[in-house]
Amino acid sequence: TNFHELGLAKQLVANLSTLGYDTPTPIQAEAIPHLLQGRDLIGLAQTGTGKTAAFGLPLIEMLSKDPKRPDNRTTRTLILAPTRELVNQIAVNLKAYVRGMPLKVNSVVGGASINKQQQMLEKGTDILVATPGRLLDLIARKAIGLTTVRYLVLDEADQMLDLGFIHDLRKISKMVPKKRQTLLFSATMPKAIAELAGDYLTDPIQVSV
Ligand code: AMP
Repeated sequence: TNFHELGLAKQLVANLSTLGYDTPTPIQAEAIPHLLQGRDLIGLAQTGTGKTAAFGLPLIEMLSKDPKRPDNRTTRTLILAPTRELVNQIAVNLKAYVRGMPLKVNSVVGGASINKQQQMLEKGTDILVATPGRLLDLIARKAIGLTTVRYLVLDEADQMLDLGFIHDLRKISKMVPKKRQTLLFSATMPKAIAELAGDYLTDPIQVSV
């Protein structure tokens, strides 16, 4: 299979081709069709399997099919990840995927200027990638609200729990609408992650690679 056959539109497939992505990785081939159908998903996958594109590409496809601009200080998609490095890496990848498309990708992490991040969020965001702590700081400043979030991704969920983000995750999950599509990725599935998935996902498809 190729990316077009998985259901992605021409512009996106062209961007992937420029990046040298010609063949979907196994997790991409498995996850993308389910995600385009709107299913919640649990992905058991390590970094290096192509999981960023596995969740990023169908989200980009769905966002571009629904071309309304985000309101100021809102986001349509929230991707949470445990570390600055991972957030930055996800954002770099997603920005390359959306080249030439009218979608705004922003990222916010601790240790960088919060005022600059506040400014960046002012005009509205299609895909926000964030560490949980900095996101909550920005919410407290009213720099961003989560009432328009349609897609929620928890990446490296086991790492987020290990780093003590469970309270932050529970706080954040109370601020996003119930009607949404949720994706959870984790390298391992300890009981705490299974519980988290049970609380936040509805009838999820499970894929593992
Ligand atoms: P990830 O697991 O998301 O960190 O991705 C691992 C690496 O594989 C990244 O450098 C991606 O740019 C690259 N990659 C992801 N999907 C593909 C693909 N279908 N073809 C070629 N490279 C890919």
